[in-house]
Amino acid sequence: MANRTRAACVVGWPIKHSRSPIIHGHWIRQHRLDAAYRREEVLPEAFPDFMAHLSERGYVGANVTIPHKEMALALSEPDDRARAVGAANTLWYVSGRLNSTNTDVEGFTANLDAAVPGWPNRVKEAVVLGAGGSARAVIYGLIERDVRKINVVNRTIERGEMLRARFGQTVQPAHGSALPHLLARADLLVNTTSLGMTGQPPLAIDLGPLPRHAIVADLVYAPLQTPLLREAQARGHAIADGLGMLLYQAVRGFQLWFGIRPEVTPELRAVVEADLTSKIME
Ligand code: NAP
Repeated sequence: MANRTRAACVVGWPIKHSRSPIIHGHWIRQHRLDAAYRREEVLPEAFPDFMAHLSERGYVGANVTIPHKEMALALSEPDDRARAVGAANTLWYVSGRLNSTNTDVEGFTANLDAAVPGWPNRVKEAVVLGAGGSARAVIYGLIERDVRKINVVNRTIERGEMLRARFGQTVQPAHGSALPHLLARADLLVNTTSLGMTGQPPLAIDLGPLPRHAIVADLVYAPLQTPLLREAQARGHAIADGLGMLLYQAVRGFQLWFGIRPEVTPELRAVVEADLTSKIME
């Protein structure tokens, strides 16, 4: 009898630190599905061939992570989000063709929805720190939710200017020296740099000028509570953390591959937190 187990995978290089198998494995067990989710370590030069034969390898779809997200876009039929962000992280078949999207966009906004319900009503102006791949997903999500002005502060100002060219005048690139002035007007501050991550330099930022009603979000999830979020919480700001975004970005792929829309629950969070904590202790 044919193997009826539906399988998806996460493709990257290296791949062993990916948390996606823990997240999808939890949902597969919770829903008692005859399904599997595996890690696939694939070198960049082997990636096009791997994706061309994804279905023959027994997969109904895949997540794609560093360094393949841009290549995945070129090898699939991207939706508006993936095209706008310039990277695809979730792929699935429609009538035999590989479609793709970028779920970091909804991961970011759904996590904010959960952490601070109604946030779009109170966020007119945002400050985004960083101008890399995750900044593009965050900016696209903020524009989708009608944020009118997004000030992008990045070490390399040219990358901020590229974001203005990509997303239009809603995006205003700025130098770090403008930060105190921009923070004073901000309703939302988002760190999309890797600063503050375990093993990286700290994010040196003075939250003093930030109005008390402003929301603070950090994409970094190792450590679980970054110094930025700890300070923001101590000052009374509403916060949204990187782990929440990681969990919410996984929802859509699971639904597309396995037909059930899973929930981000405290149990799931605890499972992934335990893994992250054990890895940090290693
Ligand atoms: P990326 O494309 O490599 O961009 C990195 C950004 O950080 C750039 O803006 C870079 O500035 C800045 N940066 C790096 N080192 C710096 C330093 N020493 N001083 C000042 N700026 C520095 O990376 P990414 O994909 O956007 O990811 C960024 C972070 O977000 C990572 O920690 C990643 O784990 C996290 N992330 C989390 C999620 C989630 O689901 N929670 C999703 C995606 C990413 P330059 O342009 O000047 O180089």
